Amino acid sequence: GSPKLRKKLEEELAANGLADKVTITTTGCHGFCEQGPLMIVEPHKTFYTRVTEDDVAEIVASDLVKGETVERLLYKDPNTGEAAKTYETVPFYARQQRLVLHNCGHINPEDISEYIANDGYSGFARALLELTPDQVVEEVKTSGLRGRGGGGFPTGMKWGFVRQAQGDKKYVVCNADEGDPGAFMDRSVLEGDPHAVLEGMMICGYAVGADEGYLYVRAEYPLAIQRLKIAIAQAEEKGILGDNILNSGFNFHLKIKAGAGAFVCGEETALLTSIEGNRGMPRVRPPFPAQSGLWGKPTCLNNVETFANVPQILRNSGAWYASMGTEKSKGTKIFALTGKVNNTGLVEVPMGISMRDIIFAIGGGIQDGKKFKAVQIGGPSGGCLPDELLDLPVDYDSLISAGAMMGSGGLVVMDETTCMVDVARFFLTFTQSESCGKCTPCREGTTRMLEILTRICNGEGKMEDIDTLERLGRVVKNTALCGLGQTCPNPILSTLRYFKDEYIAHIQDKR
Ligand code: SF4
Repeated sequence: GSPKLRKKLEEELAANGLADKVTITTTGCHGFCEQGPLMIVEPHKTFYTRVTEDDVAEIVASDLVKGETVERLLYKDPNTGEAAKTYETVPFYARQQRLVLHNCGHINPEDISEYIANDGYSGFARALLELTPDQVVEEVKTSGLRGRGGGGFPTGMKWGFVRQAQGDKKYVVCNADEGDPGAFMDRSVLEGDPHAVLEGMMICGYAVGADEGYLYVRAEYPLAIQRLKIAIAQAEEKGILGDNILNSGFNFHLKIKAGAGAFVCGEETALLTSIEGNRGMPRVRPPFPAQSGLWGKPTCLNNVETFANVPQILRNSGAWYASMGTEKSKGTKIFALTGKVNNTGLVEVPMGISMRDIIFAIGGGIQDGKKFKAVQIGGPSGGCLPDELLDLPVDYDSLISAGAMMGSGGLVVMDETTCMVDVARFFLTFTQSESCGKCTPCREGTTRMLEILTRICNGEGKMEDIDTLERLGRVVKNTALCGLGQTCPNPILSTLRYFKDEYIAHIQDKR
C-alpha cells in the first residue's frame, strides 16, 4: 500500500504549502511486516504503523504542521499495551542488531548518493586503494564470516581458494535465488540496499582476481531486479563499476541473470549450470566451483547476505566484525520470522542469541495467548525444535547438533494447535516436487517418504512406517547427490526425534 500513501502524502503536502519543505523518501522494507505500511517522520523519528490513505491528512496536519504526534497510529505492545513513539523504542527493533539491514528502511535504494553518503563504497575504496588482494582475503578470514546461504562455509577460506586457483578468467557469482517458503531476507536486502551487495561482489572480485560477476536473481523478485539494474547503471555512471576503476587498473562488470523459479537452482552447481543456459541440475563435486565453476573457470559464489556483510568488514576491519557473535559463528544473522508469532517480519540478531529471545522478546510471543509448540528453522531443509530447546543459542554448530540448521534464515513459529506430522508432510511435499530427479536416493526416496507421511496423516499408517521413515530419511541424507536431497529429510527426522508421540497417535487413533 506504500505507493498509494506516497501519492496521498504528496497531495496533502501540496495542499498545506509544504511541498518544497518536506522530502518524501521511498525506502526498502523496514522489516516489521506485521505493522506495515510504516511511515517515519524525521528528524524526530516518529514511527507510525498500519498507515492508511485516510490517516495521511491527520499526520500532515498534526505532526508536520503542529508538531503533535498522532498517538493512535503509534505501535502498541500486544502484551503490555504500551505505546512506542520512535522505532528504536519498539521492542521488535530494540533487541535487534541491524548491521546488514542498517540502510534498509532508511535510504532511497534507487539513489547511489544516499548509499555513498552513508559510507557506501568506502570499504571497496579501502580494499582497492590501500590493500593488496591477499590482504583483503586475510581481512575476510579474520572476520570469521561464514556463508549465510545455508552451508556456513568460511567465506575468507573460499575466497582464498579462488584466489589461488589458476585461470585466465575468474567469476564472482551472487546467489539471489532465495526459494525457501516463507523466506524473504535476501529480497529485502536487494530491494532496500542493493549497492551493499554490489560493493561486496566488487570487493570479492578484486580479492580473487575476477573481472566479471553475475547476480542470479529469481524472476519472482521483479522489484529486486529493477533496483539492481538501477544500482548497476548508477555505479557504472559514477565510474565505480567498469574498466580501470578509480584509476587502479582493476576492471569489474556485473550482469543479472533471472532464474526461472526452480528451488534446486539455489544449489551452487545447479545455479552455475543454469547461468550457462542449461537445465539447472547439480553437478558432482569435486571439482568445486572454486576450481571449476562457471564455464569451467574458477568461480567464487556466495549468497546475498554474505556479500552484504563484506563492505562493513572492509570499512571497520575483520577484528571488529569478529568481536560480534560466538566463537565459531561471528556477526549477525537475518531471519524471516513468520507463523504464529505476534510480530512477524524480518529480524537481524547477533549470532548466539537464544531462540526464546527471538520469539518472545523480539517476536512478542505467540498469537492469541496460545502456547508455543515448536519452531521450524532453516526452511524446508531445516528441522523443528521443541519447547525444551528454546534456550538453545542460535549459531551454526548448536543448530546442527540439535538436528536443525541455520539454512538461509526461515523461522516458522508453531503453536499448540499445530500437527507436527502435517508440518513434516508440508515441507516434504515441497522438496519432493522440487527434486530435480537426477539421483535415485532423492528422486525415489522423497516420493516414498511422502507416500508414507500421507498415509499416516490420513489415519492409514502402520507402526512399522515409523521405522521405515527413519531409515529412509537417513539413507537419503547420506547418499543424495546435492544439498537438497541431503537435507530434505530434516523436517521428518527432527519431528520423529522430538514429536514421535504425534506419529504414534495418528497411527493408533487412525486419524
Ligand atoms: Fe536432484 Fe535431489 Fe539428487 Fe539434488 S539430491 S541432484 S535435487 S535428485
